[in-house]
Amino acid sequence: MRSFMSEKYATLEAYTPGEQPQDMQYVKLNTNESPFPPSDKVLEAVAEEAEKLNLYCDPECKALREELAPIFGVNPENILPVNGSDEALYLAFAAFADANTPVAYPNISYGFYPVYAAVNHLPSHVIPLKGDFSLDYREYCGLNEMIVIANPNAPTGMTIPVSEIEEILKSNPNNVVLIDEAYVAFGGESCVPLIEKYDNLLVCQTFSKSHSMAGARLGVAIASEGIIRDMNTLKYSINPYNINRMTQRAGIAAAQTSRYYLDNCKVIVENREYTTLKLKEMGFEVLPSKANFIFAKSSAISGQEYYAKLKSEGVLVRHFKKPEIEDFCRITIGTREQMDVLLEKTAKILSEKGC
Ligand SMILES: *Cc1c(COP(=O)(O)O)cnc(C)c1O
Repeated sequence: MRSFMSEKYATLEAYTPGEQPQDMQYVKLNTNESPFPPSDKVLEAVAEEAEKLNLYCDPECKALREELAPIFGVNPENILPVNGSDEALYLAFAAFADANTPVAYPNISYGFYPVYAAVNHLPSHVIPLKGDFSLDYREYCGLNEMIVIANPNAPTGMTIPVSEIEEILKSNPNNVVLIDEAYVAFGGESCVPLIEKYDNLLVCQTFSKSHSMAGARLGVAIASEGIIRDMNTLKYSINPYNINRMTQRAGIAAAQTSRYYLDNCKVIVENREYTTLKLKEMGFEVLPSKANFIFAKSSAISGQEYYAKLKSEGVLVRHFKKPEIEDFCRITIGTREQMDVLLEKTAKILSEKGC
């Protein structure tokens, strides 16, 4: 077939999302979704709102921002709801970096960062993590570049303290520092309180993982009014109605049922510690995770083979082909029953290999 792609995207390599099989034949532990359904209140709100599908939604997401502001301890003007936090990342890369302002981020992190840099023709400053996958914040100080750090990081699950993020913010006063808190609800420490003090801080969070809404596409950017205004300039230049009305209502209802989601996150954390312990008993190395997934490897089996054997046993996890992490698999934490299936299949796979 012919390609009509413009020269400017001739070498663009798109992001590869995790597998999303549509027939639910797998124990699905590959894309960090919540195993729990949305709250009843969310389901009711979505059904009710669907009756107004003939009308455009509120482009300002006013009711949603007003509901969320007190939860984050900020003003509604500090919040930009987005169509999944991926959209916030895209808007931020497009708005705050350019040919003379590279984007700095770790070599092992969210796979979308290099893609958003490429699609915006931005130079990337890729900073390697240490051998133990820890991040040395000093390497991000005084860069005069846009900085992007996931905290907790993906796919390692590891965190850096907010005090170190503050040092990065202080030493890069003229550049946006984006902290991607997609997994903060599972034991991380949020730096949203620093927004008052640092107008160059941009925090992204999502309803996808902790709030059982991956399919609804809702995230938030939280930052100084200046950063939010700039992102809005781009949003209104691309897609003003970026959050559909059901999702806006779902977000409000989810915020009003936070107890339910807090309890779910607590269960996930318990299951994470349980699974980590059991895998370690089977000889796995498991990185210390504060997220709803773990990153694990075994000297008895390659990451690729473990992934493939689990898949043939009906359990889907994520394997990345990148050389530095190809020994690992990323395993989403689900219900206790799902984790017991994973552990049972893992024991079977290892025993078939004679371990
Ligand atoms: C999942 C994820 C996101 C994006 O999630 P959305 O579904 O787009 O809200 C952003 N950053 C990281 C590190 C993630 O893992």
